Order: sequence, then structure tokens, then C-alpha cells
Amino acid sequence: MRITVTMVLGVALTVQVVQPDHLPPDPAEIAPNGLAAPQDGAVTSSRNLPVHAAHPQVWPEPLKRRFEAIAFDWDGTAVFDRRVDASSIRVQIERLTSLGVHVGVISGTHVENIDGQLQARPTGPGNLYLCVNRGSEIYQADSDGVHLIHRREASAAEEAALDLGAQRCAAALRARGLTLPPITRRFNRRKLDLISMPGWEDPPKARIAELVDAVGERLRSRGLGSLAAVVELATREARTAGLEDPRVTTDGKFVEIGVTDKSESLHWLMETWWGCGIGPALVVIAGDEMGPLGGARGSDHYMIVPEAQRATALSVGVEPEGVPPDVAHIGGGPAAFLTFLEDQTVRHEKRELPRIDVDPLWSITVTGADHKLERVHQVLLTLASGTVGSGGAPCLRHPTVTPTVFVAGAFEGERDESHLLACPIWQETSTMLPRDAEVRRVLDAPRP
Ligand SMILES: [Mg+2]
Repeated sequence: MRITVTMVLGVALTVQVVQPDHLPPDPAEIAPNGLAAPQDGAVTSSRNLPVHAAHPQVWPEPLKRRFEAIAFDWDGTAVFDRRVDASSIRVQIERLTSLGVHVGVISGTHVENIDGQLQARPTGPGNLYLCVNRGSEIYQADSDGVHLIHRREASAAEEAALDLGAQRCAAALRARGLTLPPITRRFNRRKLDLISMPGWEDPPKARIAELVDAVGERLRSRGLGSLAAVVELATREARTAGLEDPRVTTDGKFVEIGVTDKSESLHWLMETWWGCGIGPALVVIAGDEMGPLGGARGSDHYMIVPEAQRATALSVGVEPEGVPPDVAHIGGGPAAFLTFLEDQTVRHEKRELPRIDVDPLWSITVTGADHKLERVHQVLLTLASGTVGSGGAPCLRHPTVTPTVFVAGAFEGERDESHLLACPIWQETSTMLPRDAEVRRVLDAPRP
């Protein structure tokens, strides 16, 4: 049997001895295996795309691991609608945060809706952030309640441009014969209802394919093309109205013109988590509208910001037009997402080995144990506090390596004969590695 050893050097030193068949994938090589998505901009009636059953054993490999931070959309991902009991999600979030996992809830609605339904009051050490109003506000929920920590205030000029842009877009749609109800004003955004008809007042996310087909039919019958064309129209009109960077999204029923979208929530979360030592490869992002709708970019896919490119993304939604290749589609709705959270809780409770974010800018990887180069490798991988320094030797015994520990200023011998005092070795166990063992060491450098 050949043994493979992976050492993770950082704040803590961790050793894995596993058989090759059970090796965890290198985080740098992880790529969510989403399904190929038709994205031709057309409205589709495909409703039976294959999805993975809502059971961890059949999930794509990138999901069968522990994550240190979880960002997820609320409506359609965590809950079926705003009326259901969310106590199961609350229990999992409070357990995960108590285990040190950081959680971010992302939603287009306001904090009262989310907090009123979730009612989570975590006590840490993991934090819970409620990122609401489609990227415009962030609250932290803790044992004392819910506290605002960031708000994007639209200027008076932006508010006026939002109103004018929405009015111009509505006028253009009405000119094509589309019946529209009055524009809805929300914090930092305006909403246009494309299907204000009986039966479509509040369609559940499970009917998304039917909804997109019905809206697409209405738009095509008036020569408006598709949802993507309406998004383009709204963007153009908002710019003409004076909005420099309009954020236009759609959930199939509404087209929203705003000053922020869900990308702002993720920018903030990724930066905050980075500050806690959680790099993007340790983050999972979940939604139910990752794939396009009527050719327009799915509103949840805005969560995949550039700094989250090494994160794992999943969708539990119906996704009538498939998902982008960077998203794993498991389907199953909120029940599947709850199972995912429960699986994460179990992995943390049983202390599954944490991964590291193998960022080439912030880590050094050394593969193999070459006797000629070993002293160089040990120096490269040294952990030092400024007082005590420990060479980066494997902590299992191997013929090619000699562990070292030195203390600054501690010498033995006199004058020309003096040399650094060899201190007791703490980073070695009594187990011997076979000579042909595969050794891989990663030094995870602290981020600024
Ligand atoms: Mg959703």
C-alpha cells in the first residue's frame, strides 16, 4: 500500500495520512460540475432537465466536503415562500455558526421579511449576516437582535433617475400594447410587473418554467422578443434617465431597475470573510435562479462575483434554461438546501479536516521529499513567530528529512565553534513514512 501525506502548514499544523483512493481533491483543482446550459436567449419550455436527487451521496463531488462560509439566496432556495415555517433552517444556521461557520443570507426583500421568518439569534463564533434589499443593506444578527452595519443610500439624483428610468421603460412597453400596473417603489429600486394577471399574482418558484413561458408569450405577441430584450430596454432607459450604472435584474415576473444587485452583497461578504482568513475556495454560494431566464442572466448568478471565482456554486432551483458551467445543479428546492446545511453541520461536528484555499499568491506548495532539496524546502515552509522557528519538515518520520527547531539568539559553543542551538522537536510523531510515500506540503500564508 502506498501512503500519501498532505501537510497543511499555517496557524495550525495538520497531517493527513490516507490511501490514494480516498484522497480529497486538491481545492485548486475543484471546479463545480454544472450541467451545460442552453443560453440562446430564447424562452424555453424545457421542464424536465435532469437534476441530482436531493441526497448527499449522489451530489456532485465538489459539494461532498466541508465549507467554512455559506452564502445563500432566501426565496426559493432556503424557503418555499415567505409564509412557511423556517425553524428547520434557523436550527441549522444556529448550529453551524456555533461551530464557527460564517453565514450570509442574500435577498431582494427588506430585513423585516427575512428576520421575521428566520428569527435566528446566533451566539457565534461564526457570524450571520442578512444581506437584504438586493445588495443595498447588510445587517448582522446576534444574540442581541439585528444590527445595521452597511447601507447604500441612493442620492436624490439617483432616486429621480430610478423613477424616470422606470417610467420611460414602462411607457415603451405600453406603447407596444403591454398592460402594466403602476410601478412599485422599493428601497433603491423600482419594479415593473410584466404579468399582472389572475393566477400570476405571487407564483411560487416551483412554477418558474411555466411563468417564464407565459411572460415570454406575452412579450413575443407584442413584438418585444424576450425577457432579455426587456432587461436591455430597461437598462437603456435607465441610462438615458441619468443612472450611471443601472442594475437591472428579473425573476421572470418583475423587471427591477436598481442602484445595486446581489453582487454588492457578495463583494462585501467575500471581503469580510477574506479578513477572517476564509479564502474563496472555502466558500459555497447557493441559489435557485443561477441560470438564465428568457435569456436574461439569472438574478442569483450575480452572486458569482470575480473574487468568488474559486468558490463552489450550486442551484436547488428548477432552472428551466439550465445553469452556467460554473454552477452545480442539484435541484430539489428548499428541501435539498436544508439537506445540504444538515450535511455541513455533520461534517463540522465530526471535525472533518478543513481545506485550505490554495491561492497561488498566498500559498507555497511543495510536492515530494527530495533529499537534495529537502533543506531548501524546509526553510521555504518554515513557521516562525519571530522568536521560535520550526522548519517545514513532514511530521511523520522519513529518511530524507531532519526536523529542526531554533530560537532566535540561542546559540551553543564558543566563537568560531558556535552555532544555533538545536531545540526540542515538537513537529514529529513516531510513525515512519515509507520511502516511496507521496508527500505534499502547503504553506498557507496569512492574508493581510
Ligand atoms: Mg431565489
